[in-house]
Amino acid sequence: MHNMPVATVSNRGASRWSNGHPWIYRSDVIQPPDAEAGSVLVLGPRDRPLGIALWSPTSEISLRLVDRNPNAILDQSWWTHRIAGAIAHRSPLSEHTNAFRLVHAEGDGLPSLVVDRYDDWLVVQLSSAGLEQYRREIVQALIEVASPAGILARNDTAARKREGLPLETVVLHGSVPESITVREAGVSYTAAPWTGQKTGAFLDQRENRIHMGNLARGRALDCFGYHGSFALHVARQASRVTTIDISAPALDRARLNAELNGITNIHFVEANAFDWLRDAERNGEQFDTIILDPPAFARSRQALHGAVRGYREVNLRAMRLLAPGGLMFTASCSYHLTRPLFLQMLEGAAADSGRRIALREVRGQPLDHPEILTIPETGYIKGAVLEATD
Ligand code: SAH
Repeated sequence: MHNMPVATVSNRGASRWSNGHPWIYRSDVIQPPDAEAGSVLVLGPRDRPLGIALWSPTSEISLRLVDRNPNAILDQSWWTHRIAGAIAHRSPLSEHTNAFRLVHAEGDGLPSLVVDRYDDWLVVQLSSAGLEQYRREIVQALIEVASPAGILARNDTAARKREGLPLETVVLHGSVPESITVREAGVSYTAAPWTGQKTGAFLDQRENRIHMGNLARGRALDCFGYHGSFALHVARQASRVTTIDISAPALDRARLNAELNGITNIHFVEANAFDWLRDAERNGEQFDTIILDPPAFARSRQALHGAVRGYREVNLRAMRLLAPGGLMFTASCSYHLTRPLFLQMLEGAAADSGRRIALREVRGQPLDHPEILTIPETGYIKGAVLEATD
């Protein structure tokens, strides 16, 4: 065994790992390591070695499992190997897009590390104190495995605050442009790595966008449209798309994205979707295809109750706008609204809408955002394809 700081955890802490979850909370650490943030050897009851973890001294999540082999050493080759494995898993995606997630944190056995690829550039997020100690190795591994023209750290996540880490947006390698053109199946759009939401775009809805692009027809509505990414796909088959968003800068980018694709049948409206949907109902408008991809209304468990009301309201209003036989893709990216609660919310909305709504498909995350069954935090997107059958 090597000379590493040691943490001793309780039975309950040890059972988290044996049940397939990498986190051990502060309350389950009996003897914390006498060390700064970094990697530590974890011992269970009776000093049984359990593996190697990243140690975060100030976080409620004290230990994040990285290797079950207690003899593992997190040197350069360890990081390169682990990151290369995650990247290899994505290879089917490069056939239809140049932007996808290379590392989905706990979902890829790399806790608190996110790496998104946008064409030749990478955007990373290092969201724990333990992981920060390996910044140099991670950057080196990414250069070796992915040969990027530049790496940007979008280290502006709330998680970093809880870890006692500074917020920053900095280049870690090469240079990274203000905007990058993403190719996604038949369409292109511009991502904004420095300033856009998340790491510059919503890569997690890519396969749902492509799917709905294939199902779309007739008059279409894209609510919470952001920079038009659903609308661009839908516009290929629909006669006309109305895209609603409350953010003027997002819609400006959406207009440019439509131009980039030579698409002229998208109509952009800056409005609060709740108000707009109510007005559209009053005016008797109808749509054959509706996309409803709202922001996370529930950012905490406490906010869940109010959030469910919000989701139910937009969903029921959208259902009422469906033409007979119309299709709707509805999603939630609130982690706290679990899949059963999401379906229950849709049931309630369908009841309130007075329509006969069929559940055609339940959808989730694409292969580059693996949702691990024993790690619920790796999954947050729920989606459903609904059809008005009345
Ligand atoms: N569908 C997009 C992502 C949507 S993100 C994609 O796949 O890329 C959520 C969007 O909802 C953001 O652009 C935000 O500006 C917008 N938004 C938030 N609250 C809103 C409201 N009340 N009405 C309309 N748009 C809203």
